[in-house]
Amino acid sequence: MTGAAHLRKGWCPGALRPMRSGDGLLVRVRPRAGAFSLSALHVIANAAARFGSGEIDLTNRGNLQLRGVSDDSYDAAIAALRAAGLIDGSAQIEAVRNVVVDPLSGIDPARSDVRALAAAIEVILVDDARLWALPGKFGVSFSGTSEPRVGGRATDIMIASDGDRFAVFLDGAADVSCAVSESDVPTAVRGLALVFLDLAANDPSVRRMRNAVAARGAAAIFAAAELRVTSSPVEAAIDPPPPGGLLSSGEHVFGVGIGLPFGRIVADQLVRLCEDAATAKLNNVFTSPQRILIFPVNDRARAKALLEVADDLGLIASGRDVRLAMDVCPGSPGCKNATTDTRGDAQRLVDALNGSLSGYTVHVSGCEKGCARRSSADFTLVAREGRYDLIRNGTPQLAGLGAFVALAEVEPGDIGNAVSRFIMESAS
Ligand code: SF4
Repeated sequence: MTGAAHLRKGWCPGALRPMRSGDGLLVRVRPRAGAFSLSALHVIANAAARFGSGEIDLTNRGNLQLRGVSDDSYDAAIAALRAAGLIDGSAQIEAVRNVVVDPLSGIDPARSDVRALAAAIEVILVDDARLWALPGKFGVSFSGTSEPRVGGRATDIMIASDGDRFAVFLDGAADVSCAVSESDVPTAVRGLALVFLDLAANDPSVRRMRNAVAARGAAAIFAAAELRVTSSPVEAAIDPPPPGGLLSSGEHVFGVGIGLPFGRIVADQLVRLCEDAATAKLNNVFTSPQRILIFPVNDRARAKALLEVADDLGLIASGRDVRLAMDVCPGSPGCKNATTDTRGDAQRLVDALNGSLSGYTVHVSGCEKGCARRSSADFTLVAREGRYDLIRNGTPQLAGLGAFVALAEVEPGDIGNAVSRFIMESAS
């Protein structure tokens, strides 16, 4: 491997800056404007099988991540991905090209098509070297509705489009936004990113946009970028329904959403999906931060056939599957920080409770860092020395503040009983 100098613990990984994890190197591949071609997806599946463990994660930013790549096979993996056009020109460029796109944009007739705009922003991020100094996790997202968070996930700068209206939001300031014309969106995003860099350069506490908003206020940041603020109604942040199963508007079918159980698929499953999608003459796949692969398809019979294949493969073929409302980090042995098998324990929770979990969000985290989900969940299980602390309506970081822990030191075998108890209490 030639990229050893780039290995960092806690690094937000890319393909050219892989992160070493408990099961080898993580090689993260970013879609372009939220999409992979079917042939690119096939290449990723083959590279995962040949050069990694075969496991592929779909992250909460809609990226695909090969797991278990060895030092010896890393260079060959990158060569295979590069040949398919999946590798950026430099590690700096891949880090800054952090753009999330509404996965239903362009196919759901009820949503605006923001895909071309997202592609234009990617070009700016790649071409303007000043922006390469943005933090690795600094992201921009494009929503095809008036709700700025795509899949319930906030990014540093959010563009929401409702018909022909466009509004810019900043993370940490849901009550203000800035209305802009479509043609002015790129200028607005560039300006806000440059203002952020300026603030971060003068204040070490400003690491992400929400820090800048807390320190200076969103109105001042918009003003510095020469944007005029309008107020926005504040709505309670709720997770939108996951776009799983048959996707339609009335009688019009526009796609299928195939969920990856706890965000993971293995190479054989992905190859089979690609082959069946190719038979159905599909070309592209959109990635959802809710860990769903969206296949645009208009034909009802073809859509149903693809969902049947997904179901046979053990993937999620229904939007009502409770696993779609669960965020689960890799846990042990995939991550060295974890002391529990989070994925196995999450499945045990589903086996024990299944339908009772319907309507609840669940986060199973191998440690307090909480990589899988930033916002609070109805039930958060945080591992500590092989057992779990259970937090209601909070985040893993609250586990360090004992007062927020509803139940402490729950054995993995007892988490079903623990969660069930609170579900029954809230129902009575
Ligand atoms: S949250 Fe999970 S994946 Fe993240 S560092 Fe902790 S154990 Fe590892």
